[in-house]
Amino acid sequence: MGVSHIVVVGGVAGGMSAATRARRMNEHTRITVIERGGYISFANCGLPYHIAGRIVREDKLLVTTVEQVRARFAIDVRVQTEVMRIDRAGKTVEVRDLKSGQVEMMGYDKLILATGASAIVPGMEHVRAENVFTLRSMEDTRAIQKYLGEKKPKSAVIVGAGFIGLEMAEALHDRGLAVTVVEKVDHVLPPLDREVAVDVEHELRLHHVEVITGTGLAGLVADEAGRVTHVVLEDQRKLAAELVLLSIGVRANVGLAKEAGLTIGASGAIAVDGYQRTSDADIYAVGDVAEVTHGVTGRNARVPLAGPANKQGRLAGEHAASGEARGADKPVGTAVVQVFSETAGLTGLGEDAARKAGFDVDTAYVSGGHHAGYYPGAERLRIKIIYDRATGKLVGGQIVGKQGVDKRIDVLATVLHFGGTIDDLAALDLAYAPQFGSAKDLLHMAGFVAQNQRSGVTAAVRYRDVNGASVIDVRTTEEFARGSVPGARNIPLDDLRGRLGELERTREYAVMCQVGLRGHVAARILSQNGIMVKNIKGGYALAKEEMDVPMEKA
Ligand code: FAD
Repeated sequence: MGVSHIVVVGGVAGGMSAATRARRMNEHTRITVIERGGYISFANCGLPYHIAGRIVREDKLLVTTVEQVRARFAIDVRVQTEVMRIDRAGKTVEVRDLKSGQVEMMGYDKLILATGASAIVPGMEHVRAENVFTLRSMEDTRAIQKYLGEKKPKSAVIVGAGFIGLEMAEALHDRGLAVTVVEKVDHVLPPLDREVAVDVEHELRLHHVEVITGTGLAGLVADEAGRVTHVVLEDQRKLAAELVLLSIGVRANVGLAKEAGLTIGASGAIAVDGYQRTSDADIYAVGDVAEVTHGVTGRNARVPLAGPANKQGRLAGEHAASGEARGADKPVGTAVVQVFSETAGLTGLGEDAARKAGFDVDTAYVSGGHHAGYYPGAERLRIKIIYDRATGKLVGGQIVGKQGVDKRIDVLATVLHFGGTIDDLAALDLAYAPQFGSAKDLLHMAGFVAQNQRSGVTAAVRYRDVNGASVIDVRTTEEFARGSVPGARNIPLDDLRGRLGELERTREYAVMCQVGLRGHVAARILSQNGIMVKNIKGGYALAKEEMDVPMEKA
């Protein structure tokens, strides 16, 4: 195909994947990458760990350099150079060298927009103060490092408890600062459902990170020198802060595209077709700036993550260079984050998001060791799966624990990718040895629980939905004595068959254990003896959280 010049705007995840794939597919075309910042292919995802001091050398964050890309791929890479405007009719871009100020008009046959996203900065006084930061680029990282090194702040307020906010909470804690995290919704890690995020919140508190949820940023107070001293919250609280990090989300950098008249989708990112082509067939968009077709909802959405950005770049580069490529992936939104020693992973839709998207979903909860209990070192994992009631198709999954979260969330993501059901999940043939998992892995158990619920073997409800049923707590008397829900009656599981006479056939019961497993056994005993019963999902551990009992680990 006669493509003589491919111009890529943005030289990080999506842009460099596009440029290098284009070269591998077409040795003869001219390829130029224009990057506004000073670096290409830097590891955004590693930035918090550099600030934490775990990735010591800054150059380790540079996956490749301008010189390496020029030498190996014969790609003309221009850093500190910005594309200012696209002239679609003339097929040129206006390029400004930010060092010299020189402007040039550069022709293209194919243009790939990989301009990414920018951290959202609210419009309020003092957001540009020297001690108020966002984290997106190497330059942002340097600014934070410099401030930490020179001013040695002792306290930080992080606004926004998403992935970056929490990674930075840990990083700044590691640097010796007293950290407070503020989150507008009622729990940390908003993409997770609240009852799953609880363990992460607990972990933050365990490390003396203060967590304030359910209120947002209202304003910043600065001293005479213009340095922010306090963060004011919507609930009027005023927090002292020597460093403020704003991590309240990202906005797609669609300015160029908008000005050029390209179609912007309802999600706020650039609308693309199955080959990442925008409404102009010679212009592609990839990464955080582009919309995707969501793999679960089938709707257009933004999934601003590194994996999709890299793969979309690869696809667009190939298509631009050769005129052919396999169609675009449909990401389901899979992410994992570590907060101190707790890891949280999610894929697909959470329960609330699924309902908002119009799914009629049910949920299943399991909790247990990440490998066989008899092998030393098993750590507790909590898994929630969300599935479509009518079809049994998996809609999403969320996992939290200290070990084994990453591989299991990837298994759930794989099931989602193939449109699998809870039966598929239960049937997966997964690797097992005692130090890695269980012969019936917790993922299988999640599938079994969902199957039991869906087929009616055991009806199950959240504690908040017991609706007047009498609660029987089937844990041991010792466990019961340590705490129970109001009005519950204790009949330990192993005594249950002998005490059936105490229960009425005309009444409905809800059985509760610690996490739901013994409750299922109890429910089977009772229902097969003609007693109306439901198992309480997630047991006392989950109910306690619903009752707003101060957080404590199950
Ligand atoms: P970017 O990486 O943002 O690159 C866009 C580039 O375009 C920028 O360098 C910008 O300077 C340049 N640009 C913009 N406009 C112009 C212009 N007009 N002219 C020239 N250049 C321009 N994702 C994960 O999946 N896992 C993680 O663990 C993870 N951690 C992260 C941690 C941090 C701190 C951050 C900031 C992000 C993290 N992400 C993570 C998200 C991930 O990094 C992004 O999804 C990914 O980098 C998007 O790639 P991109 O190429 O679309 O955009």
